[in-house]
Amino acid sequence: MEKIEHIGIAVKDLEMSNNLFAKLLGVAPYKTEEVASEGVRTSFFKSGPNKIELLEATNEDSPIAKYLTKKGEGIHHIAFAVTDIRAELQRLKKEGFVVLNEKPKKGADNKLVAFLHPKTTNGVLIELCQDIED
Ligand code: ZN
Repeated sequence: MEKIEHIGIAVKDLEMSNNLFAKLLGVAPYKTEEVASEGVRTSFFKSGPNKIELLEATNEDSPIAKYLTKKGEGIHHIAFAVTDIRAELQRLKKEGFVVLNEKPKKGADNKLVAFLHPKTTNGVLIELCQDIED
């Protein structure tokens, strides 16, 4: 793992939260993107070298909808940047972590992503992400 790539926050209303975080951070989101396969709309903010991702559900089966029902708004995941996501998943599986995605999938912000189950990471959903080179 290289560094924290971003922190993901589950929100009920992306427009409202975009305004809130724009006020908080003093910058507008640099990107808003829908990931249909995940049932989410996301927006990304830069704060210095750090990034915040806001996630809104686009349907009731979305993992974000389920999270909001169970826990309400708040920090949803921490994402770490990796250079070789497949190798890192193998390493983490050997260490006993439960991987939610055997195969990395295309996520928001031009990344390949995979998640670790929070039951093996002290209750924190961990995302691994690798830049997709085009
Ligand atoms: Zn994320």
